[in-house]
Amino acid sequence: MQAPAGAIGDPLDAIDTPALIVDLDAFDRNIAKMAALAAQAGVKVRPHAKTHKCPAIALKQIAAGAVGQCVQKVGEAEALVAGGVTDILVSNEVVGEPKLHRLAALAREATIALCFDSAGQVDIASRIAGEFGVELGALVELDVGMARCGVATPAEARDLARRIADAPNLTFRGLQAYQGRAQHFATYGERRDAIAVAVGQVRECLDLLSAAGLESEIVGGGGTGTFRMEAASGVYNEIQPGSYVFMDTEYARILDERGEGYHEFEHSLFVLSSVMSAPVRERAVLDAGLKSYSTEKGLPWVAGRAGLTVTGVSDEHAVLDVAADAASLKIGDRVMLVPPHCDPAVNIHDHYIGIRNGIVTEILPITARGASR
Ligand SMILES: *Cc1c(COP(=O)(O)O)cnc(C)c1O
Repeated sequence: MQAPAGAIGDPLDAIDTPALIVDLDAFDRNIAKMAALAAQAGVKVRPHAKTHKCPAIALKQIAAGAVGQCVQKVGEAEALVAGGVTDILVSNEVVGEPKLHRLAALAREATIALCFDSAGQVDIASRIAGEFGVELGALVELDVGMARCGVATPAEARDLARRIADAPNLTFRGLQAYQGRAQHFATYGERRDAIAVAVGQVRECLDLLSAAGLESEIVGGGGTGTFRMEAASGVYNEIQPGSYVFMDTEYARILDERGEGYHEFEHSLFVLSSVMSAPVRERAVLDAGLKSYSTEKGLPWVAGRAGLTVTGVSDEHAVLDVAADAASLKIGDRVMLVPPHCDPAVNIHDHYIGIRNGIVTEILPITARGASR
């Protein structure tokens, strides 16, 4: 691990760069807003930890009313349990004995559930849970239009749920029905239509399950782009948003109901960088490139300086066109970048430097960073 880029009490200007910064006031407002919207709609929030990868943030979300956490990787679950989280849903299939052994060991310390879309995997997980003397929660994943994992039809979901309910050491806990693609559909109408299809499939599936005497404690799905729709559906009872705590440029680019930028949540995550070179008047070069954020969703934005645009990024540099900014930039000046995609940006940092009113007040270790297994 790298040493933190700053210390408690440091002003922003004293933080070494590049550094991953969280504006804690904006971050708190995002968490409070999600908690309030979910409470109004009568659904639970199980935020997705693949975004923040940080037990301290998970505990803040739980303190605000979240029922637990979602993860995608066993390594993320391990980091959260080590940090004090006691209720985790792996919202993903888990394949291979090494991973299932680790998950079963974790179930000795915490409530653990995972997803299935194959009968063979149900049998393997049941056997391993038995060997470890634990009970694993099990959800059936239904493909509701994402075309990734998940059984294709409600009838298959019912049959798999029956197999889970009959398997020793597994407890059937419900349905996982996440429409991941819809999260970033550009228009509100496209998102609404996609979630309407998902809701129809979930409803059909729940009817088949109850006819078979199988009750779903969890009906989960919904991310930052569509959670209001799942929450209002009357069929989903847990929403799983992740990116809302930080936001990123990918989410800021989708459109809301009025056709304007998606401003439901505030940007709270930034990469603080410094100008390291300004060789000609119209160009400044920052010290933060691909070692500080990813660009598969586009180039980062400059926060708070409308005239500055990132025109190119390489491993260690970002090039800024400063021609439109009369104040221009000189070597040593600080520039805050908004990451294009929050999850992969977080994945390459060891700490969040949390600031309030320009002063470092918290340093949060990102203990699940790099947890690719
Ligand atoms: C990524 C993910 C989410 C959260 O998505 P955001 O867009 O970050 O809010 C929720 N559920 C599942 C299963 C996911 O994979």
